[in-house]
Amino acid sequence: MTWFDTHCHLDSEHNPDGPDALLARAREAGVSAFLCVGVGGMSQAEQALAVAERHPDVYASAGVHPHDAARDAALDFSALWSHPRLLAVGEVGLDYHYDHSPREQQAEVFRRYIALARTVHKPLIIHTRSAAEDTLQILEAEGARDAGGVIHCFSEDRAFAARALDLGFYLSFSGIVTFKTARAIQEVASWAPAERILVETDSPYLAPVPLRGKRCEPAFVVHTGKYVAALRGLDPAHLAALTTENARRCFRVPQA
Ligand SMILES: [Zn+2]
Ligand SMILES: [Zn+2]
Repeated sequence: MTWFDTHCHLDSEHNPDGPDALLARAREAGVSAFLCVGVGGMSQAEQALAVAERHPDVYASAGVHPHDAARDAALDFSALWSHPRLLAVGEVGLDYHYDHSPREQQAEVFRRYIALARTVHKPLIIHTRSAAEDTLQILEAEGARDAGGVIHCFSEDRAFAARALDLGFYLSFSGIVTFKTARAIQEVASWAPAERILVETDSPYLAPVPLRGKRCEPAFVVHTGKYVAALRGLDPAHLAALTTENARRCFRVPQA
């Protein structure tokens, strides 16, 4: 079996022990590719890229998380976009749950990064929380369709999913889909088109059942994948192959 963890945070701020042991454990569990998200500052983006340079099965992204929109609005990643292992722009988006940055500033940075993704021809990794309507409106108005990408850690309903799919986006399911209360997300995970679903850990956050509450790591994507496979009545190996192929298409992973 071969899984693709399409969203993990492996920089030293999130993983003080460093990524190598985590990656080794994940490979042992059957995870064969990783997208390491570089947000939280320039250092995190550079670290994500450094991990990708050292490990041929790791790819990187760079962006400004909505939490950091106020602090990091002026960051300039332009030296990084041409790097062959930097595959995506993000995570970017809106987070009205925490409101760590003023909403207008979140929206301003979000719009700017959609435009940037279109310019550099890279897919977007979208973070949205308690901001569904504004997220969709901005994606639609700013032409995010041209860049494409993924709604990461999908935790919205079927109506949201339908509009995201209309924009050509993929839906990525994290450990949240395994939580008992996540009925609406489970419904989307069982209904969404097979060629548009991905799986991720968002580690170190959101460990799936039966490891809920533990510090999450990329190896745990296997549990989320098996859960989604069961929802769809598929063999886990089939879902692993399907979601891995989808991830490679979504992030335009260069042929090895
Ligand atoms: Zn996120
Ligand atoms: Zn994340």
